[in-house]
Amino acid sequence: MNSIVGIDLGTTNSLIGVMDSGFPILIADANGARLTPSVVHFPMDDAPLVGQAAGHMRTLRPAQTIYSIKRFIGLRGDELREDDADVSYAIERESGQPARVVANDHRYSPEEVSARILQKLKTDAELALGRSVSRAVITVPAYFNDAQRSATKRAGELAGFTVERIVNEPTAAALAYGLDKLHSRSKVAVYDLGGGTFDISVLELNHGIFEVLATNGNTRLGGDDIDSAIIAHLGAKGFPTDKPEAAARLREAVIEAKHRLSSVDSTAIEIPFLDGATNFSCVLSRDELERLSRPIVDKTRAHCLRSLADARLAPDDLDEVILVGGVTRMPLVRKIVGEIFGREPNTSQNPDEAVAIGATIQAGILSGAVRDVVLLDVTPLSLGIETFGGLMNVIIPRNSTIPIKAGEMFTTAVNNQRSMSMKVLQGEREIARDNWPLGQFEIDFEAAPKGVARVGVQFEIDANGILHVLARDTKTGREKTMEINSAVDVSDEAVEAMISESLDHAFDDMSERVWTEAKLKAEEMLGAVDAAFERVGDSVDPVEKEMILVAVAKLREALATNDSKRLQAANAILDDATQGLAAAVVEKAMQAAKITGSA
Ligand code: AMP
Repeated sequence: MNSIVGIDLGTTNSLIGVMDSGFPILIADANGARLTPSVVHFPMDDAPLVGQAAGHMRTLRPAQTIYSIKRFIGLRGDELREDDADVSYAIERESGQPARVVANDHRYSPEEVSARILQKLKTDAELALGRSVSRAVITVPAYFNDAQRSATKRAGELAGFTVERIVNEPTAAALAYGLDKLHSRSKVAVYDLGGGTFDISVLELNHGIFEVLATNGNTRLGGDDIDSAIIAHLGAKGFPTDKPEAAARLREAVIEAKHRLSSVDSTAIEIPFLDGATNFSCVLSRDELERLSRPIVDKTRAHCLRSLADARLAPDDLDEVILVGGVTRMPLVRKIVGEIFGREPNTSQNPDEAVAIGATIQAGILSGAVRDVVLLDVTPLSLGIETFGGLMNVIIPRNSTIPIKAGEMFTTAVNNQRSMSMKVLQGEREIARDNWPLGQFEIDFEAAPKGVARVGVQFEIDANGILHVLARDTKTGREKTMEINSAVDVSDEAVEAMISESLDHAFDDMSERVWTEAKLKAEEMLGAVDAAFERVGDSVDPVEKEMILVAVAKLREALATNDSKRLQAANAILDDATQGLAAAVVEKAMQAAKITGSA
């Protein structure tokens, strides 16, 4: 039997599971552990260590031990933030190039490091199941962009898997929550705060159909930020945090203390010989931890409110708010979630395991082991192309259910145009230049008068959230396709900023769009009037001609202002004044056609 495994490739820990007799089961390694730390240690001249064994090396060989690699997957060097340097290993961040980590003078892509983790999960599963495992479903944060999803898929392939599906983590968590509620109807929010990422999704569960209504989040917000805030606070108290070994030991002790503070009010952090000579010792209270964590956890509030607004729901419309991700064990997080949604959150799911359980269920759906469940996901940002005048033409609006296919027909703006440049964009802004370019290609066609050539453009987002673009010249059938899955193109922080920017600039953007559209219309009409006068000018009544010329002059004046209303009014006047002229042009064309037809 070649069943499919479900994998949660986490920032901090990873898990693998398989459906067994209709139940999702998480697989333990040879030591009985289901959580595999997402850590890889590269020794000088030996095989890499992965998981728990590598985790032990974090304090001994911090520069050769790679953790939190998920933060860098699918990103370019210039997309990394200043504080990404606060890991204990070196990162190569060349502008325009994929980010790489360095250990023992060797450079590794985040995909290669992630593949090591996936390989270990694969080997553990094969050992436990006694058969080979080659097909997988892997989860990613809902807010991962195309490049990050593709890089995750590549990591799976490098590890020897056929990646059957990339699934959003909060959707997976909802599957885990909803598997025993297949015959009911409810709306739930999944609040997932992990080591490095925050995701919020609003879903409707309706008799086995899981529909994602909205999703939002921040790919760089999580427990790691809380750890850094505590370390900075302790550093500020005068303890050394600049030596790599000392910093790694301090981080480890801080994380353990943070975990303890989820159940006790105060805890001691003791590290013997932290700087080689002196012992480090301090007491951290839950109050102190909460004061440091609050600004970080508070950042999730705006994302939650936006996802509710996108789903057109009020907090009261939700039946449950499900907590997932290790950080949601913190009492402060539960309190803040309670404030945001006005209800006690649901803590029924094991925060470490829900995503992996959901990935396993999704694997079961794909292999046929789980029936009666359908999963409908959504796009986090709009996708479109640049059109005349530099405007964004949305083809797939954000929050559309995927997989999805949508298309539109475009034509040429200039006579005898022989090619059209397709600039594929992602984002929420009205003006093309404010959105993120995902790719560009040219489609050629035969020369024709403007408006005659027809190019059909089709966007398809497949079940993995990867975009396929197709452009076809309808006359010759010539087509070009493009799969946007390899370029590390979209700035991730910018994706998160995109939605709030689009709201901030909504008014200005809309007036620029209105102006540009009115300007394009004015230019088209002026060209058409000149052409019409040339063809039928002699037969136009002088009074009518005078009216048209006055309207033309007014339109030219309006074009020189920046006043959209005036331009729209002048367009309307010229449109009105040229009704007769347009009819005369059509009549002449018909007469010409008749003469040619009867000749
Ligand atoms: P995840 O990415 O979901 O595995 O979550 C890992 C994050 O949760 C890390 O930042 C952990 O330090 C944090 N975490 C795990 N358990 C606890 C706990 N009991 N209290 C606070 N944070 C925790």
